[in-house]
Amino acid sequence: NACLYVVATPIGNSADISLRALHVLALADAVACEDTRNTAQLMTRYGLHKTLLAAHQHNEHEVAEKIITRLQAGERIALVSDAGTPAVSDPGAIIVDAVRAAGLRVIPLPGASAALSALSVSGLINDQFYFLGFLPSKAGQRDAVLENLSSMPASMIFYEAPHRIIESTAALCKAFGAQRQVVFARELTKLFEEIHRCTLGEAADWLAQDTHREKGEYVVLVEGAKADADQNDQEARRVLNILLEELS
Ligand code: SAM
Repeated sequence: NACLYVVATPIGNSADISLRALHVLALADAVACEDTRNTAQLMTRYGLHKTLLAAHQHNEHEVAEKIITRLQAGERIALVSDAGTPAVSDPGAIIVDAVRAAGLRVIPLPGASAALSALSVSGLINDQFYFLGFLPSKAGQRDAVLENLSSMPASMIFYEAPHRIIESTAALCKAFGAQRQVVFARELTKLFEEIHRCTLGEAADWLAQDTHREKGEYVVLVEGAKADADQNDQEARRVLNILLEELS
């Protein structure tokens, strides 16, 4: 029975947890979590009380050893993050890898994911997507990453913090051009959920229309590059940007 269960938890609406996840959390001997206060609240909401093991960005290697010892003693451990699917732009991958390398079993419990929820309502018609997670916070690194993606045909999915949404959107427009479609999926599953699709050229105005839009959680999706004409356009824009930078 010893096993690490990687359990997805809600990204807002507390009803978005699976019956199986509740069952596993109820059976677990301990729950490894990103933030013990958040997870304690989550567990209380479902009437569960368990030993919580702090497993955050800074102690994953250390806690992985503790989890392995417990698993070897026959325990069942659940791993959760603050929201959504663990190990996706969240801690968890180091623990999973250590447990796997120790020859122990890891079982996923699928559930909420901000990226896939946003993709599912984006209306972007494309069976390929590229999930990038958070863009680098430094402007130079961010722009270099975007530059490399500008001719990619797959739809792109980004996570972004609200205090950077305006700046990042401007960077997306500069890298991909004003004609590309963008989808903002804000506060998914929560009271002020908003899903808005427009062109990158229209995006700054939409963000400026309501000050609430500088708050909340965002998934941003950008449509992929279209056929050749678009790519020629991208190339022209890239060269133009280089020339403009030389001039300034
Ligand atoms: N592991 C999570 C998942 O599976 O979706 C993602 C965790 S990551 C640290 C948090 C980021 O996910 C936020 O900054 C935001 O970009 C996105 N996110 C999480 N919840 C969201 C929600 N309810 N609505 C929109 N975006 C959300």
